[in-house]
Formats: sequence, structure tokens, C-alpha cells
Amino acid sequence: MERISGMPSLERMERGPVACIECIQCIPCNPCEAACPQNAITVGEAITSLPQLDEDKCSGCGICIAHCPGLAIFNLHKNYSDATALVSFPYEYVPLPIQGTQVRCTDRDGRFVTQGIVHSVRNLPAFDHTAVVTVEIPKEYLMDVRGMGRRGGE
Ligand code: SF4
Ligand code: SF4
Repeated sequence: MERISGMPSLERMERGPVACIECIQCIPCNPCEAACPQNAITVGEAITSLPQLDEDKCSGCGICIAHCPGLAIFNLHKNYSDATALVSFPYEYVPLPIQGTQVRCTDRDGRFVTQGIVHSVRNLPAFDHTAVVTVEIPKEYLMDVRGMGRRGGE
């Protein structure tokens, strides 16, 4: 995917968890900007502008993921281990996946990419029914995996 204003640099991804904002439509929208406690996201007064990520301010907390109505924000942790990375994404289905289980991880179009393990599931009241699921996957799929199949399958 071509790098856009909300995507972190490769150098930043090497340094630790960071948001990856794949918002590419200039729609009037900005809850991501208000949601970030580090002020790392800027949409600005022209509310149809694409969000800009200040990658040095971003702590990789993942709070913005659940606040994006477009389900366009992810969190990437490239160097979770020598061989694996973590990818966090919004998940709006039930039942929620169970930590530690194996799931089928998918790309932006829902196509199977690789098997992964559910690392965590965050479902805070403040997230308003959008859970944040984090999967551990082989590192080479960091820029491909952006979701998982329902019930870990289809
Ligand atoms: S991951 Fe946290 S610090 Fe980074 S942009 Fe999102 S809310 Fe802000
Ligand atoms: S909340 Fe989501 S859809 Fe809206 S501007 Fe931010 S990233 Fe784009």
C-alpha cells in the first residue's frame, strides 16, 4: 500500500508500537483527532482533510482504533519477538475471539493471509461496542493482516 499521511515510516515501526491510519477518503470526519491523548493525530479545521499522524508523539496505545467510525485505524508492533509481530484492529462481531486461540487472519478485503494467535481482546465501555483485537502473526505479514475471519474461520 502506498504510504499516506496517517501511516508511520518504516523507521518508526522499528522503534515500537505505533498507529497506522489507513484513511484515504476525504470525508467530513475527525473523531480520531479528539480521541488521541497524545495529540498525535491532526485533521485540522478543514474537516475533510486526511488525518496526519505525528509518529513521534504516538505511543501506540491503540485508543484511536475503536473511535474511528470508518474502521480505518490499526496498530502495528513490528518487533514483538524475533519472528512475530502484533497487529491490532477493530472488531464489531460477536462472539469476541478468545485470547490464546488460533484464528485465520485476513487482509483489507477479507482474504485469508495467515494463521495467527489472539494476543488480546480489549472491549472497554469507552469503546462503545467496538472491540480491539490484537493478533500475533509471522512478521512478514505485518503490512498485510488487517483483520480476522469471524469465528476464526470464514
Ligand atoms: S495509538 Fe494512541 S497515541 Fe497513537 S495515534 Fe492512536 S490514540 Fe494517539
Ligand atoms: S475517525 Fe477514521 S474515518 Fe474519520 S478521519 Fe479519522 S481515520 Fe478517517
